[in-house]
Amino acid sequence: MQITQKLSPNFTRGRQGWVPDMFCFHYDTGSDAGTGTINTIMNPARQASYHSTIGTATGVTEHVRIEDTAWANGTSTDRNHRLWIGHARHPIVRERNVNPNLYTISICIPGDRAPIGETRIEQAVELILHYRREVHRIWGVWIKLDRTHIIGHDEISRTLCPGLDFPFEEIINRARARAGASARAAGRPAGGQSPREGVLVRIGDVETIVPAQMRGDRWVMTLPDGPEGQPQPSVLLRVVLETMGFDVGWDSADGAIVAALPVE
Ligand SMILES: [Zn+2]
Repeated sequence: MQITQKLSPNFTRGRQGWVPDMFCFHYDTGSDAGTGTINTIMNPARQASYHSTIGTATGVTEHVRIEDTAWANGTSTDRNHRLWIGHARHPIVRERNVNPNLYTISICIPGDRAPIGETRIEQAVELILHYRREVHRIWGVWIKLDRTHIIGHDEISRTLCPGLDFPFEEIINRARARAGASARAAGRPAGGQSPREGVLVRIGDVETIVPAQMRGDRWVMTLPDGPEGQPQPSVLLRVVLETMGFDVGWDSADGAIVAALPVE
């Protein structure tokens, strides 16, 4: 996907140790093909920015690098302030109780409040997948493709942005289908042979091949029980997998760990 860079002066360097794990979508009103939005982002006096905009004259445009903090979803710690973080509808945002800009990637789709349309839906999907690969490359984690981690500005602050009609479900479904497809492609040797039957797990100097099978787009892994009173291998593996960004579950019928495969 073609991404044009038009970097904004409005950002804070770094993320104060936070790893971005949510996408936050915005809308910006105006029927000027995004000119007003870009002018705002480029104007230091406005103190506002997004990591990227979609569907302006420059197509998909990056304004703040994802290593840095954009100024899109600011909140206040003052109870009497309109932007008090306690107003947030998103439970994780309330729980973390820090500036949500630190852990979000903000994407704005300028325009009037009409449906965003096929082209921009596709751009949003591809941009999510692009940033997700970048976050994995930089920080080693995969952002989850679900409604908890792909959110709207109105879940953080009292705002009408990005609007009730925003097609979250469509965007998430497409992103998931495409991420799953490339993961399946990556998990199989060339030539369409059967998938690997084990996963190499390395903890410190110890390497273990964990027996694993692919069922659909998930790995199913079984581990023997360890000595009683010791941390069980399955519990340790779960922690490792979750740290690596896998979506981990437990199949009690099979006594097996079920992990969604990260992509690429
Ligand atoms: Zn917004």
